[in-house]
Amino acid sequence: AKQLYERAKPHLNIGTMGHVDHGKTTLTAAITKVLADRGLARAVPFERIDRHHEERERGITINIAHVHYETATRHYAHVDMPGHADYIKNMITGAAQIDGAILVVSALDGPMPQTREHIVLARQVGVRHIVVALNKADAVEDAELLDLVELEVRELLSAYGFAGEQAPVVRVSGLRALEGDPYWTARIVDLLDAIDEHVPVPRRILDQPFLMPVEGVLSITGRGTVVTGVVAQGSLRVGDPVEVVGLSEETLSTVATGLETFGQVMDHAEAGDNAAVLLRGVRREQVRRGQVVSAPGSIRPHRRFRARVRVLTADEGGRSRPFHHGYRPQFHFRTTDVVGTVDLGGEDVMALPGDLVDLSVELGKPVALSEGLGFAVREGGLTVGAGTVTTLED
Ligand code: GDP
Ligand code: MG
Repeated sequence: AKQLYERAKPHLNIGTMGHVDHGKTTLTAAITKVLADRGLARAVPFERIDRHHEERERGITINIAHVHYETATRHYAHVDMPGHADYIKNMITGAAQIDGAILVVSALDGPMPQTREHIVLARQVGVRHIVVALNKADAVEDAELLDLVELEVRELLSAYGFAGEQAPVVRVSGLRALEGDPYWTARIVDLLDAIDEHVPVPRRILDQPFLMPVEGVLSITGRGTVVTGVVAQGSLRVGDPVEVVGLSEETLSTVATGLETFGQVMDHAEAGDNAAVLLRGVRREQVRRGQVVSAPGSIRPHRRFRARVRVLTADEGGRSRPFHHGYRPQFHFRTTDVVGTVDLGGEDVMALPGDLVDLSVELGKPVALSEGLGFAVREGGLTVGAGTVTTLED
């Protein structure tokens, strides 16, 4: 029989970010190894984290590896994403809903372009707490060089609205810790201590109706269809009725007949949990990433809404040119992206990089929306804007 998940410690979602090859996956593997040696995790080897786990659905590639572990005071789910494009997609769509981030910076190279982009992105999607892992510290002999890189990272964080001066910066070597070196193993423990201390337990929205954006869908032979994701708000017990909403005018009504987290059985799932929900009588093809599983009657699919959008500048990774009335970018909500047409209120109206604009949107497909929901506007690989739904119009 499967183990029961014990909610003995607060659960947090964290993830590694940073420039390619700075050691995110190695560090992730090292954390699980160090904690496994203390009975607080199952060691996950590098190859298992880094394998190309792909799921293609409507052109969206999900590329996230999840591991989980405990410290003395918390339970963590940790996401590691293989490529830069995966970060962009998963962070802005909220698939990687993280409460805090481990910014991995190679001490050999210092901050690089993707380091900056991930910091900007973290800011945009509301990640407030960053702990820096100054990795590959084993390969840098010169202490002054390490100090210099640390200073650069702090300045970069401050430049994008984080408290760079206060952010913990821990000098680590994921590689050497993975090899079992005692000195570097202790530095991983320092890093985990810094995360425990610096990333607060977020206040979870428990007093709202249950809602979980669908991140993945799998069918389990003989049992049915399971959807996975991070619970955004509320809680759900086994046996509760739910609806699957979005990407279609029709809403599917069903019942949650099983709940698990990382292979352990849960009697209830609540905001912040990484959950797998078994849906009664639902076929695999009836549910898709980008929909939400929600309490009956609590949310509806919408095509038209009004929003306030901040148009990003080229420095922030956005466009250098304005966009006009009738512009048709992609709108990223939670775990989905849908094309939509922008109404600026008149043919000759335009929105300039740096502007804060109120506009109307008509989506190509209905999405489960509520007022206050955040989204990203993307076009041709650029994040053009960051917005919030202000009014639902249909
Ligand atoms: P990612 O792209 O950020 O996930 O980076 P990887 O974890 O795949 O590591 C990239 C390369 O850097 C690999 O060759 C690793 O062995 C190497 N590497 C990772 N961590 C360290 C470290 O702490 N010290 C040294 N010397 N090399 C490292
Ligand atoms: Mg990697």
